[in-house]
Amino acid sequence: MAFVGESAALSREIEAPIQNVLLVDDSQQSLLALEAILEGSDCRIVKATSGEEALKHLLKQQFAVILLDIKMAGMDGYETAKLIREREKTRDIPIIFLTSYNKEDAHIAKGYAYGAVDYIIKPVVPETLRSKVSAFIELARRTAALRQKNLQLEAAEEALQERTRQLAERVEELAKSNAELERFAYVASHDLKEPLRMVTSFTTLLARRYKGKLDRDADEFINYAVDGAVRMEQLIQDLLLYSRVGIRNLVFKSVDCEVVYAHALANLQAALRETGALVTHDPLPTVQGDDTQLVQVFQNLIGNGIKFRGEKTPCIHVSVKDRKKEWVVAVEDNGIGIDPQYADRIFVIFQRLHGRADYPGNGIGLAICKKVVENHGGRIWFKSQPCKGATFYFTIPK
Ligand code: ADP
Repeated sequence: MAFVGESAALSREIEAPIQNVLLVDDSQQSLLALEAILEGSDCRIVKATSGEEALKHLLKQQFAVILLDIKMAGMDGYETAKLIREREKTRDIPIIFLTSYNKEDAHIAKGYAYGAVDYIIKPVVPETLRSKVSAFIELARRTAALRQKNLQLEAAEEALQERTRQLAERVEELAKSNAELERFAYVASHDLKEPLRMVTSFTTLLARRYKGKLDRDADEFINYAVDGAVRMEQLIQDLLLYSRVGIRNLVFKSVDCEVVYAHALANLQAALRETGALVTHDPLPTVQGDDTQLVQVFQNLIGNGIKFRGEKTPCIHVSVKDRKKEWVVAVEDNGIGIDPQYADRIFVIFQRLHGRADYPGNGIGLAICKKVVENHGGRIWFKSQPCKGATFYFTIPK
């Protein structure tokens, strides 16, 4: 972050108005005359009686403009101008050559070649000199203001780049830790399956072989153990399913949601037949996504509409809205509805609002929907009131 501090210091430095005018002439008299002309102007005058002295001043401070006599003893105006132009820090300072001779065009051209921006022939007309100097001071002020703005912009841009870099790092870290968690869930649930199968089969064997041979308590306890083991097997199965809908296994391609929908309904055949549910849909779009994962979303949402039915025959409608950057899919049912206070909870893995005796399930369906939808860069939510049906919405970016 050091650059921000440095830029701020630089900005402050540039903020100070540059009003310095460097007068260079080997004649004290000329210097005094020039000083007299510029007196009262909005400038700070620094005088030098030789090219060398001028260069020393230029090492120490900034100037808005340099008034440089050409004919000087020792280093003349041209040589001085050449050295000024060679140094990066002083290269852009405007130089006005002052001379009482060299009126010929050729010499004037030489002056420009040495970096003069203007040429004033002595005797100087006071008004002309004053207006030229104040024009250059104004120019220096504006340039400084622009430079300051530029520095601020650069600093802001660098800060933004730094922030973007940090965010990208964070996203990468999160993706890594998500992948690790998925791997952990997979390995844990996979490795738990085997010992659990032993527990289930031996408790089932116990139940079968010793039912009625021990006391009534024993029968009951064995039943609890069998029931618990079977449930745990199902939970582990679900956990495995959940860990498999990871982003790593995602295969993006063009997916026709009509096909996805038909696939989901085919998987729900038994429930549809059993309940006589009526499922309808609007024409569905083709999206970019993973078809296997999207089938799970349609299947879980429509399946829930069937499962959480009330007295009426379940009616479920799937509709789609075309928003500029995304599709919004809605799955509406006429079931028991949900209290909106559970808006977040029902999307959490293994969270249910009903007992297993009322409605079967483990609370994994919506967690999977959320994961799949988020894998696709979308959002999922619902609108509902108890007893008034529920509509689940999810988006798929285009
Ligand atoms: P499960 O269906 O196994 O219970 P879900 O994750 O699919 O698991 O749903 C979590 C809970 O959200 C359900 O137990 C139920 O209480 C509620 N729910 C989900 N969908 C609906 C719906 N369409 N109507 C009413 N309640 C619902």
